[in-house]
Amino acid sequence: MTAYVMGHFIPDADSICGAISLAYLKNQIGEDATPVRLGEPNPETKYALEKFGVELPELRTEFAGEDIYIVDHSDRELAPKDLDEANLKGIVDHHKLGDITTNAPLECWIRPVGCSNTIIKEMFDFYNVEIPASIAGLMLTAILVDTVIFKSPTCTPVDIKAVEELAPIAGIEDYKGYALELFKVKSAVEGTPVRELVKRDFKDFDMNGNKVGIGQLEVVDLSIFDSIKDDLAADIAALKEEGNRHSVLLLLTDIMKEGSELIAISDDASIIEKAYDKSLDNGRVWLDGVLSRKKQVVPPLQKAFS
Ligand code: MN
Ligand code: MN
Repeated sequence: MTAYVMGHFIPDADSICGAISLAYLKNQIGEDATPVRLGEPNPETKYALEKFGVELPELRTEFAGEDIYIVDHSDRELAPKDLDEANLKGIVDHHKLGDITTNAPLECWIRPVGCSNTIIKEMFDFYNVEIPASIAGLMLTAILVDTVIFKSPTCTPVDIKAVEELAPIAGIEDYKGYALELFKVKSAVEGTPVRELVKRDFKDFDMNGNKVGIGQLEVVDLSIFDSIKDDLAADIAALKEEGNRHSVLLLLTDIMKEGSELIAISDDASIIEKAYDKSLDNGRVWLDGVLSRKKQVVPPLQKAFS
């Protein structure tokens, strides 16, 4: 029987490319595996799939009785709802350890690097399996996006080494140029419904018993949000009510200026102000140098809630 390989809900490039690259590796080492996705791909993922000629994995969200591998998280909140009825064979991830547990032993590749695909690259090397050009292109894409072209504080020398090795395999001469193409695709927000933008990269976190949603939009120039910032603020307020959330944060990240404008709505804004040691002005504040939700936004907030 095949093992389904998937990333998290609201999949990003790392989730979709990681499902594809890990499933490919598993097949090469004699394990039947099939990549799937838990949601719709974002624009830069679609762009990469098209560029490298790889088919979009099938949408599948039910896995009772199936063998599964999880990539890019280890949190129930982001995993299939019937996780406990599936047989979790392994996790490949680069986030803080989540709350997923298993009844049987599993394979775990969890490392503090900038991208799950960096770990999968190490797995390819470990098993001495050749990476096809198309798969290398997808892995490279995920690493460039996840590390914000190496600018994110989550980026490590291992990520850079992986990109430098994958680029020639993928036939990408100028990977920084390609990365900018990706972020331009990511920045094309015009004409997109506000709710779709807010939820494009949105995760719920459990912070000391409080549900906190944090979304992030990474663009090459923040001014594209000028005309819709009020609409974004109104929408996260609606999202807070709809989901019974304590707080909703939206990060508008400028990858060239290397910082994020935070828009926040909360039952207790003082927690957010405490977390980042900044006062909110009309629910907004510029956070200089903040690019990473995982490393710079979630941990201080988690701490302020506890
Ligand atoms: Mn991810
Ligand atoms: Mn990732």
